[in-house]
Amino acid sequence: MNDATENRLRVLLIEDNPVHVRLIEGLLHSSKKPTFELAIAGRLSEGLARLAQGGIDIILLDLTLPDSEDLETFIRVRSQATNIPIVVVTGLDDIKLAAKAVEAGAQDYLMKTHLSGGSLLRSLRYAIERTRVRDAEWDSPMFRLAQRQFLKAAQLLSLDDNIRQRLLFPQRTLIVSFPFRRDDYTEVENVFGYRVQHVLTMGPTKGGIRYHQDVSLGETSALAMWMTWKCALMQLPFGGAKGGVRIDPTVLTSRELQRLTRRYASEIINMIGPDKDIPAPDMGTNERVMAWIMDTYSQQVGYTVPAVVTGKPVVLGGALGRKEATSRGLVYLIQEAVQHLRVNLSQSTAVVQGFGNVGSNTALFLEEMGLKVIGVSDVTTGIYNPKGLSIPSLLKYVTQHRFLKGCPDGEAISNEQLLELPCDILVPAALQNQITAENAERIHCKILAEGANGPTTLEADEILNQKGIFVLPDILANAGGVTVSYFEWVQDTQNYMWTLDEVNQRLHKILVDAYTRTLTRSRRDGLDLRTSAMIEGIERVAQAKLARGLFP
Ligand code: NAD
Repeated sequence: MNDATENRLRVLLIEDNPVHVRLIEGLLHSSKKPTFELAIAGRLSEGLARLAQGGIDIILLDLTLPDSEDLETFIRVRSQATNIPIVVVTGLDDIKLAAKAVEAGAQDYLMKTHLSGGSLLRSLRYAIERTRVRDAEWDSPMFRLAQRQFLKAAQLLSLDDNIRQRLLFPQRTLIVSFPFRRDDYTEVENVFGYRVQHVLTMGPTKGGIRYHQDVSLGETSALAMWMTWKCALMQLPFGGAKGGVRIDPTVLTSRELQRLTRRYASEIINMIGPDKDIPAPDMGTNERVMAWIMDTYSQQVGYTVPAVVTGKPVVLGGALGRKEATSRGLVYLIQEAVQHLRVNLSQSTAVVQGFGNVGSNTALFLEEMGLKVIGVSDVTTGIYNPKGLSIPSLLKYVTQHRFLKGCPDGEAISNEQLLELPCDILVPAALQNQITAENAERIHCKILAEGANGPTTLEADEILNQKGIFVLPDILANAGGVTVSYFEWVQDTQNYMWTLDEVNQRLHKILVDAYTRTLTRSRRDGLDLRTSAMIEGIERVAQAKLARGLFP
């Protein structure tokens, strides 16, 4: 925004219906603070000409104009005004189109029939605020993906507008910048750390901690939002959270990792606790990191608090089966999908991207089930063998060499090639944003089981659906981890430990129940599985928010 001075905003209204122009003009002019300077264009060409002169803070856009229609109108305005927030004003019959415009980058939409001074001012104010935050730390493709997925589901659910606005951003965020010493004791590294709590309504918040060089507030917020839907879909008494440190952990020694972890834990210590927010492992962290966080927290409060983290070593109160829980859950759901699609397991092939906790255990379980795992990869390389790889042999190699690079068990291929290998089951279990509009057409599998969070973009989703690929979406497919984390927390708070059989049986029951609800809704309402799973989760959170009311 320019001189504006938040008290005076320059609005460009592109709308051809004089009745609606007068209505919006009247509403804006009745506002005392902020006040509005209104430019009006009745045709798209006039609107674009006015934009070219500059000095507009926000655009109110009708998508049906005499010289342009539908999404085309939005796209042409957006391409000329990349940094100006756009709010679409729409009629009841165009609501789906308006939601599409939001998915394509509009900040909000408003129904002409429901227009009031309050709703219009609020939407304009939020749109401007969101554009500002989008341009700052929040800006990340992942957060945009999470918000767009949420908006799509919210629109199909006809979610109450007040609730929609409250769920679009996390409730609490913390950014810290802190130092830790390298081993030579002369160099001090300064890094950024994050902890984000998306929804505080459901109980304590829950979510992993990621160490990766791409971690940002936007990425952490996207992951926290997905945790909210995931916990709600599994009907666990948690809201979503996530944390992380922007660092490449593979370049650190174990001692450096410990110093970094202890300092990060003490920086976020006021935000976490067994009744507040309970971290767990995510990419780049593991049970050893969880043990250090638990120890740091316990040292600070003066007594041992196992329930402050989950995914810790069993000897410290970790749940049996937690380490493999995400993969075990993934495989339970693959079994359900295989049955549903009547795929012959013994003749099936699988490809797994990522060979860390989730990827390697999933590959192992799939091999144990009798599938031929023909390709796996990590950050350094992919390995392909059409005759089938031996996963224990690959694990042995990685234990010795840390990465797959140089492994003689198959042909080396790139991660891009790996994803495009024809197979029955494809498991992305590394990073987000792997299956996009660019490569979705070349994905050839029957079942896509998302071990990673956010591996598929919205555009890719549409292509996969058209191709008839059965997508087990992340918030369902990889929920085994948080479910057994919940079991671990329950055991720690009750000081009563379960057997591995108990853990796995309960995990199976919860996952299959969530899968069945998701599949039933998707068939009933003609939705893809991701949207159906999201709606299951969002509906529960919305109900809880409404039941609790608003403070004060
Ligand atoms: P991890 O750190 O144990 O393993 C990550 C793997 O991905 C490693 O093999 C790494 O080499 C590989 N990798 C990193 N960058 C890559 C790239 N650019 N291309 C290909 N491979 C790459 O992490 P993890 O715990 O197995 O998590 C993997 C994914 O699963 C993440 O998206 C995470 O959010 C998700 N997830 C994990 C859990 C859990 O319990 N650990 C639970 C739910 C979801």
